[in-house]
Amino acid sequence: MAAPLVRPIVMSIYEVNGQRVLMPERMARSTPDMKKAMYDIRADVEAAGGKFALSDLFRSYDMQLQAHLDFTSGKKKAFSPPPGGSMHESGRAFDVDLKGLKMTLSDFWQIAKKWSVVPIIATPDSKASEAWHFECRGSHQLVYDYYKAGKGTNFKPAAAMAASAIVSAGLKHDRFADKEDVAYLQSGLIRLGEAIGSIDGELGPKSNGALGSLGLAGISRAEQLQGLDILLQQKFPDEFFDNTSEEIGHLV
Ligand SMILES: [Zn+2]
Repeated sequence: MAAPLVRPIVMSIYEVNGQRVLMPERMARSTPDMKKAMYDIRADVEAAGGKFALSDLFRSYDMQLQAHLDFTSGKKKAFSPPPGGSMHESGRAFDVDLKGLKMTLSDFWQIAKKWSVVPIIATPDSKASEAWHFECRGSHQLVYDYYKAGKGTNFKPAAAMAASAIVSAGLKHDRFADKEDVAYLQSGLIRLGEAIGSIDGELGPKSNGALGSLGLAGISRAEQLQGLDILLQQKFPDEFFDNTSEEIGHLV
């Protein structure tokens, strides 16, 4: 479970004494590739005269549960799925302050796309619910595509992608009940191009066959995880290594 969450330094929409403050510590987590994407997007937005400020970034399991309860009780209008279904839980989604961008949503979509960040609504309508939500899916898009093609059947594609991203950040997911390490192996195998059936936290013949074809059979679980990490790091280095430098000038 070596894909780390790092600490991006980004502005929030929250204010203290009338001044906007940085994204609070407990929410300021993302994968390295999303951190870089946010910094690149911010530079482009600022070059065009806008500001890049966020209302939401990382949500822990407990924070996601609270958001879901607030939605079901009617306290919050925006839809929030229960824990396990959101890319916010893996540090791979942000909610941006659309007004502050000072550009049309379709112009922002172009900038986001340039840095491999995608919206989840179909057309750039800034009044639509979730118009503010963007995802840096990285290699987990491959899990989405795999489920969309019917190769995995126990989740809908978006939920499979979210589960894959969550277990890859070493975080808990209710569907796997302490077998997140096996789910992570399965997510990794899919992202390395293997067909293993569904991500279910149980190593069946297909998963074991795929491990064998990668030279990872007949060794301990810890060695399998380590071997898989090495292969994933080779294929998706941006998701493991943080190469961004901080430019604090952006923040004042
Ligand atoms: Zn969101």
